[in-house]
Amino acid sequence: MMKTGRRLWTLVICAGAACAQSVDTTALKENTDKLIESAMKDQGGLDRLEYLCYRIGNRLSGSKGLETAVSWAEAEMKRVGLQNVRRVPTKVPHWVRGNEAARLVSPADKPIAMLGLGGSIATPKGGITADVVVVSDFAELDKLGKSGVAGKIVVYDAPFVSYGQTVQYRGSGASRAAKLGAVAALVRSVTPRSLRDPHTGAMRYTADAPKIPTAAIAVEDAMWLHGLTRAGQKVRVHLEMEAHEEPDADSADVMGEIRGRELPDEVVVMGGHLDSWDVGQGAHDDGGGVIAALQALVLMKELGIQPRRTIRVVFWVNEENGGRGGQAYRRWVGEEIGHHYAAIEMDGGAERPLGFDLAAIVPERRRANNPGAATPKVSPRFAGNVQAIGALLKTIGADRIERGGAEADIEPLVAAGVPGLGLRTVGEHYFDYHHTDADTFDKIVPEDFRKCVAAMAVMSYGLAELN
Ligand SMILES: [Zn+2]
Repeated sequence: MMKTGRRLWTLVICAGAACAQSVDTTALKENTDKLIESAMKDQGGLDRLEYLCYRIGNRLSGSKGLETAVSWAEAEMKRVGLQNVRRVPTKVPHWVRGNEAARLVSPADKPIAMLGLGGSIATPKGGITADVVVVSDFAELDKLGKSGVAGKIVVYDAPFVSYGQTVQYRGSGASRAAKLGAVAALVRSVTPRSLRDPHTGAMRYTADAPKIPTAAIAVEDAMWLHGLTRAGQKVRVHLEMEAHEEPDADSADVMGEIRGRELPDEVVVMGGHLDSWDVGQGAHDDGGGVIAALQALVLMKELGIQPRRTIRVVFWVNEENGGRGGQAYRRWVGEEIGHHYAAIEMDGGAERPLGFDLAAIVPERRRANNPGAATPKVSPRFAGNVQAIGALLKTIGADRIERGGAEADIEPLVAAGVPGLGLRTVGEHYFDYHHTDADTFDKIVPEDFRKCVAAMAVMSYGLAELN
């Protein structure tokens, strides 16, 4: 996930004709209060998330873990009585990490904490041993030029600014270094805090450079190598990776619904991504998101709440290294896209929610890949509705509505004109655990997760109910 550039939405909508205060949500309040109350007592969501984390574990596209999770999710949706439970099949990339290691070999012999980046190729058998050059950013790399880089391992020691800004070294650092003749690239993990745990994530090779192996290293190790080179030491590193791409694998999004009582063809779609990286348990990224969305519907069923429009929960696959699930769902919807009233995604971790971001800007990663991407338009009326529904979450402190970029799985829907929302959390620790072995169930704070369930339930119900 990645979010950028939020601003207070009120500044925008209250400049127009419609203001949030004009939307009457009195009729919703009885049910939304019940949803919040039952979410704050709920244990079923935590039990499901624990099962997903402890019994199934991580779920990279193409892995057995993901396919076990797909089957389990389908069975759970049926078990809780959702309607029209089904899969949307899609092929997904199948990257396999294999064995990997990195060592400092000179001026001392010490292991380096590393994790290969998703999409990387392997080193030649026996690995690569080469001198290291450390840079803080691309400008420093370019200044070194071919003569300073050729034949070397480039280490990017770029301090964390924001995820959106710093992730560029993970995404394109290898190709930028390879263009100048580097033999491998090691990237400082994209995180504001570190306990010497490397953070993996997707990288992409560009067509204008040879492919070289690339891995994340712990923040501490990037700073250590940088300290050595700054002190004038000649630093040599040995890197060995078996990473490779297998043929695309079969997978599927999983979905289920509560059909609307008056407008069943109009859909509020809500979910997160079921896949994760191949480390940790994908607890915050994004087990918490899919389970919170499912649990929101479970609570509605338990309370006998059937909204005016259909609410559909979708567990998308392959968000982490391809986005095929989001695209497959968009294709499956086809012409019916006009009946999608709103799309909600939770993919920023299950920390304490503050409210929702309304997709009204182009996220940085999308702008980088597609400079012509159109800015999503949201009508003042819809924004006013969202703000009024958000106000119903004031008791749990989740009533803030801001402008943001759409999460990745709903981007194809937002690009087709569907208003998009993303759950916004305090974001205090999400990037500490993100894409590491430490993204595990113990990091979920029950009270915060329950608030996420409440926020997802109230927003989806409000949008599905409001006239
Ligand atoms: Zn995610």
